[in-house]
Amino acid sequence: MGKNDKHIENTIIERRLLDRLTNIPNREGFINLVGDQIINSQHEKVMVMMNVRNFKIINHIFGMQKGDEILVDIAKILSKRKVYGDICGRFYADRFGLFMSRDSWDEHPFDEQVKEIESLIDSSEFHLDLVTGVYLVKNHDDSAYDMVDKAVLAMKSQRQSSDTPFHFYSENMFNKAKHREVVIAEFDNALKNDEFVLFLQPQFTAEGELVGAEALARWDRQHSGEILPPSRFIDILEETKRIHRLDQYIWDLAAKQLKAWENTKFKDITISVNISPEDFECINVENYFKELILKYRIDPSKLHIEITENAIIYSPVKFENFVNAMKEEGFVLELDDFGSGYSSLNVLKNINVDTIKLDMVFVRGLKGDERAQIILKSVIDMIVKLGMDIIVEGLETRGQLETIKEMGNVLYQGYYFSKPLKISLFEEKYGKVLE
Ligand code: C2E
Ligand code: MG
Ligand code: MG
Repeated sequence: MGKNDKHIENTIIERRLLDRLTNIPNREGFINLVGDQIINSQHEKVMVMMNVRNFKIINHIFGMQKGDEILVDIAKILSKRKVYGDICGRFYADRFGLFMSRDSWDEHPFDEQVKEIESLIDSSEFHLDLVTGVYLVKNHDDSAYDMVDKAVLAMKSQRQSSDTPFHFYSENMFNKAKHREVVIAEFDNALKNDEFVLFLQPQFTAEGELVGAEALARWDRQHSGEILPPSRFIDILEETKRIHRLDQYIWDLAAKQLKAWENTKFKDITISVNISPEDFECINVENYFKELILKYRIDPSKLHIEITENAIIYSPVKFENFVNAMKEEGFVLELDDFGSGYSSLNVLKNINVDTIKLDMVFVRGLKGDERAQIILKSVIDMIVKLGMDIIVEGLETRGQLETIKEMGNVLYQGYYFSKPLKISLFEEKYGKVLE
């Protein structure tokens, strides 16, 4: 190979590993350089990944050319900071990576660069915000890819309006991300193999008379007896647009249960099911419930439907229509978690549900707190005046029951009476009571 060929070859390699726009290494270039550096190195390292929050909006407001200029400037600012051995690259779009020794990270604080980058746009229309994930490399067996993944994980777990631009990777984040992958990977089979189980939490009058139950999902993972609570899977299923499949399954079990109780002591017991706002994005909820009633030939007034306050706040008109349509069909509508969100009172004005489920926040710290008691009493009075029923959630002590009983006629759901139970246990326990 001639000298000229060698030169061309190098140029091609260089081009392949360089980002055309900013002239710093691209993703491959960055990974290669990091890979070279970590071989045999026992020095402490730091991997940083950064993004501009809502970068697309820059292109939208100021145009593509300005967007490109910003990216070039970011690359310049980051390169300027580099001390010997530091590596900086642009992965794609607005994502940049930096790799450095721990000494470099400690001795040349990044705050300056962050400020400089954030001041690249001085506009009332857009504030340039950086989102940064930092992995202080602990494991020397990590490949360059592992390091990048961990820094990205830290970056992504940053909340919307965090006041520090840096977010540090932790083992906990890794475990959470791993758990998320497990849920996604196992969900289809779990649903097919009936690993999701319907638990029922009973609802009572103040006198202890059983009137209904809430259907709550549990996951008996691979039928191992390891029971996962909803907090371990609902959010993940919502974020990945899978929740409607679980919800349909649970609603079906609830309807089936109502049918099974039809000619038994449990015939008057109602079951409330939860719906997620995401369900409305993927299926026709109204039709599904109508079909359930036809499929099991049950009385729709026995099947109560819970919508959370938060869902309603984001699309009030949609839910107003939904609530009215479902009531027309004979279903009973409940507003869940009332009082846990931001708005509240206005929701009551427009959404004509049958029942309000008061969130646990109203019950917590009621004892000896006069202000808390005044608030709860007023809320109960108001809801009663509006002609709606009330279920107080999260009742845990006899004292709470005594206090709330004085305030009005409400129903109760909480550990004081019972935790959510497997259906067989529910029937065993309350079958006797209903004799
Ligand atoms: P939620 O609908 O507000 O359900 C009430 C939650 O409070 C249940 O938690 C229940 O076990 C818990 N709880 C009841 N009484 C007490 C008490 O006295 N003290 C305390 N500390 N907690 C009490 P769980 O079963 O863990 O469910 C959590 C949330 O997950 C539910 O809140 C609901 O929003 C959601 N969820 C549960 N099952 C489903 C489902 O099938 N589909 C959907 N979309 N969401 C579900
Ligand atoms: Mg609920
Ligand atoms: Mg609730």
